[in-house]
Amino acid sequence: MGLRLRFIAVELTETEIKAVRYTRDAVPEARLVLPMAEDRDVDLALRRLRSAILQVWPEPSQTVAGIGVAVPALFDYRRGLILDAPDAWPREALSLRAFLTTAFDVPVFVGGLMELIALAEYRFGAGQGTGNLIYLHVGRQIGGGIVVDGTLFTGGNGLGGKLGHMTVEASGPPCRCGNRGCLERYASGEALLAEAAAALQAGEPSALGARPLTLAALVAAAKEGDALARRLIARAGRYLGIAAVDLIYLFNPQRFVFGGELVQAGDALLTPLREIVIERAAPLYREGVLLQRAALGEDAGLLGALAYLLTELRVKIDLV
Ligand SMILES: [Zn+2]
Repeated sequence: MGLRLRFIAVELTETEIKAVRYTRDAVPEARLVLPMAEDRDVDLALRRLRSAILQVWPEPSQTVAGIGVAVPALFDYRRGLILDAPDAWPREALSLRAFLTTAFDVPVFVGGLMELIALAEYRFGAGQGTGNLIYLHVGRQIGGGIVVDGTLFTGGNGLGGKLGHMTVEASGPPCRCGNRGCLERYASGEALLAEAAAALQAGEPSALGARPLTLAALVAAAKEGDALARRLIARAGRYLGIAAVDLIYLFNPQRFVFGGELVQAGDALLTPLREIVIERAAPLYREGVLLQRAALGEDAGLLGALAYLLTELRVKIDLV
């Protein structure tokens, strides 16, 4: 029976619907990508989602154990609802789980992309062999996830583990969340690009002035030794380090994994981050935690959906 079990993983992005059929060893067997519906057409988006899954559905001789879905959204794990998603994707009151359960009659588990990537790194990537891991994603925005004893931490009301809104400066600038001085205001790609633009406007010399201002350009300039890019990225690294120290004291993780576009800057970001952790966290705490770069690439979201599905189905799978 076990050999014939298959798992469907879906990742929704701002522009695409990706569906993959996996074996229980996470080997992809079939893959399909469809464009996301235009104009936030919910019905069309759901039809395409259903169609994508049908096209990777296995032969009748194989059994689908369930469907896992990663959504780039603020996801309410208690109620199973998408609360805030990219413009292209339908929003509140939409329960993908209810829709897919009705359509396919198998167990369905939906989660937020960043949290599920944490589970993917834990199960298939940089966190293998540990039970407790924190993943911090440093892209345009900051997200991540917390894995405690092999399970995704989501909090009592289903909204826990949102790492971008930890306060790192008590009197810092206002954040879109309503708080001030959030990590996201100091270390996200959006924050860094805004600061780079302001510095260029003020006349600071930089290679960044010669190209469109994107995260990739910022990372490339830092690698080439551009002083402005390196200064901004080093500062982001220090603020990430401050947040990491708090999380290390709170959760005592064995691995701390950093992913996202800014992490491509490598040591320009990670060296100041490590220095802060060494400077501020007591040896008893920091010596038990490995700080690592994320190991998974483009399929991290799909593997996250698979990891979540496998985690939630654990009891049933063990009986097979
Ligand atoms: Zn905030």
